Amino acid sequence: MKKTILTTLVFAAALSTASAQFKLNSKAVGAVGKGVKAATFSDEEAAKLAKEAVDWMDAHNTVAGPKDAYTVRLNKIFDKHKNEEGLNLNYKVYKVVDINAFACADGSVRVFSALMDKMTDEELLAIIGHEIGHVKNHDSRDAMRAAFKRAAISDAASSQSGVANTLSQSQLGDLANAIMESSYSRKQESEADDFGYDFLKKHNYDVMAMASAFKKLQALGSGDKKSTMQKMMSSHPDSGARAETVEKKAKKDGLVKGN
Ligand SMILES: [Zn+2]
Repeated sequence: MKKTILTTLVFAAALSTASAQFKLNSKAVGAVGKGVKAATFSDEEAAKLAKEAVDWMDAHNTVAGPKDAYTVRLNKIFDKHKNEEGLNLNYKVYKVVDINAFACADGSVRVFSALMDKMTDEELLAIIGHEIGHVKNHDSRDAMRAAFKRAAISDAASSQSGVANTLSQSQLGDLANAIMESSYSRKQESEADDFGYDFLKKHNYDVMAMASAFKKLQALGSGDKKSTMQKMMSSHPDSGARAETVEKKAKKDGLVKGN
């Protein structure tokens, strides 16, 4: 499972200016450690842990600097949405060849440069809107809990008062891994799609950008090789079907241009 996220897309490598692959801990995770308690922690704890794991990812990947063209572009696209629906979002670009984007329970949004190479500004907003939907709907928090369990972090790290703030670098790497392996149910995915659609609509963006983003994802994921894209969409309903759903909604809302 972890391998798919680490798979380099050959065409992405050819087109992207980035050369590094997204990095995660090399140690395999998945086995639930002996004696690991079911992690029961609050929203705040989930956010705190997510922040630590994202800090770890930031430290181990090439983050585009403030003057980097990718950052400048993402600022232009996303800066006005930093406080969306009461969420406090922070965002960065990873200069990596993998095509992906994610949002974590603490409001961290990370967009991969190879995805930015593929998408228009509004298509990126559609994808980011979808990811924000996962945070808003608490999917990210629930995924954090599941990731914490999967990362096999020992009892020592989860004290009676909750999650200790003393996770080792290696444990954080494991946690980052487990977060990236998170998958959501189809219901969660379609609700996040709804959120993304409403996000575009609310801000007067072209909602059809969501349909075209899905079509691009579909085209990218249809190769022979198991790609990062498939990983990104593994639990998602078929991208073609998602595009159709968006088109239907847009028609109903009278938002299809040229109709
Ligand atoms: Zn999703």
